[in-house]
Amino acid sequence: VEPGLPALARLGIVGAGQIARMTYQAALKLGITPRLLAERIDDSAALVASDVVIGHPDSVAGFADTCGVLTFEHERLDVGLLERLEEGGRVIRPGTRTIRAAFDKIHQRRILTNRGFPVPAFAEITGPDDVFDFASVFDWPIVLKRARAADQDAKGVWIVENQAEALRVLNEQNRHRMLAESFVAIASELVVLIVRRPGGHVRVYPVTQVTNVDGVCREIVAPAPVAPATAEAARTLARRIADELDSVGVLAVELFLTAEGLLVNELAARPHNAGHLTIEATPTSQFENHIRAVLDLPLGPTWPSCPAAATVNVISGIESTDPSANLTEALAVEGAHIHLYGKRAGPGRKLGHVTALGSDPDEALAVARRAESALLGRRPW
Ligand code: ADP
Repeated sequence: VEPGLPALARLGIVGAGQIARMTYQAALKLGITPRLLAERIDDSAALVASDVVIGHPDSVAGFADTCGVLTFEHERLDVGLLERLEEGGRVIRPGTRTIRAAFDKIHQRRILTNRGFPVPAFAEITGPDDVFDFASVFDWPIVLKRARAADQDAKGVWIVENQAEALRVLNEQNRHRMLAESFVAIASELVVLIVRRPGGHVRVYPVTQVTNVDGVCREIVAPAPVAPATAEAARTLARRIADELDSVGVLAVELFLTAEGLLVNELAARPHNAGHLTIEATPTSQFENHIRAVLDLPLGPTWPSCPAAATVNVISGIESTDPSANLTEALAVEGAHIHLYGKRAGPGRKLGHVTALGSDPDEALAVARRAESALLGRRPW
């Protein structure tokens, strides 16, 4: 433990969505009661926490005054303000260097490129000409992204086939910083979660494979069905990035596996959707290890405690079914671990997830899909 930082300094969490909710639940198990900065009283984590401050993320300075250690569940932050707090002696974890790298995709790509990590070709977009220039080099389709995190559950990635579609997206997003990326032929999307303590002790979780539909994460399996050498390369890459950024807490490294090898798609400096299965499938969940790391406590083991696991996200359709109304049917699916976040249903919102364990990823996935279908009132897959 660093001098001046009692291990159980009051932990403040900025953000109160489902990531904060599960982090909070993991903290309670250790006898730690975090203080939350929520935007709304009915935010997922605010509903379960006993110590909640309601305020915009920009009111973090006053919140920080009441906490010994500050951590975050999202990247919608005023990084300049956090830097001033850090300079003033506040303990911010991960540090602002990591937060700055995670919160703006243009800056993130530049850092990664500069340090020699492989990323898709990209360019900052300040107007239509930049898009046309980019497309003339890399050809359609191209990928347009908001540089900074959209609101929770909001879309921030568009694959556009031609100039007209690109212009439509740019018009819609005209208030936001944007980047263009070459469209990558992705064989598999992998996520490596790594947890790192101040001073550099790390543990790496088994590599997961995620399936995205329309840019939204739907399913996750572990171990990722890739060659052992690929999984090892992914873990090594993630470890090098975490060391390079001197990150503290969970760092999620999203990778594209392509015919030419691995590309880094995105970094998230917090527990990640792909790691929800660590609750059941490893000895120490990503949420517990995030808490341990940011409070500089010994990390727990991250090896797999079963042959395979799968998670299926429960995402609201246009009919906005409330999954808790179908709990009876879902709990009848033997072996399904059901997590509901207490959120109001609305098109595209992540309302929960189901994890199942199995002797192989497909077996686990089948169980999780059955329970997810039941929660959304659909017929089984
Ligand atoms: P988010 O911030 O929403 O997670 P990502 O940058 O991870 O956004 O993109 C979401 C998904 O969109 C990816 O997981 C992938 O399926 C697809 N995608 C993103 N970038 C590219 C790209 N350059 N080429 C092909 N598909 C991409």
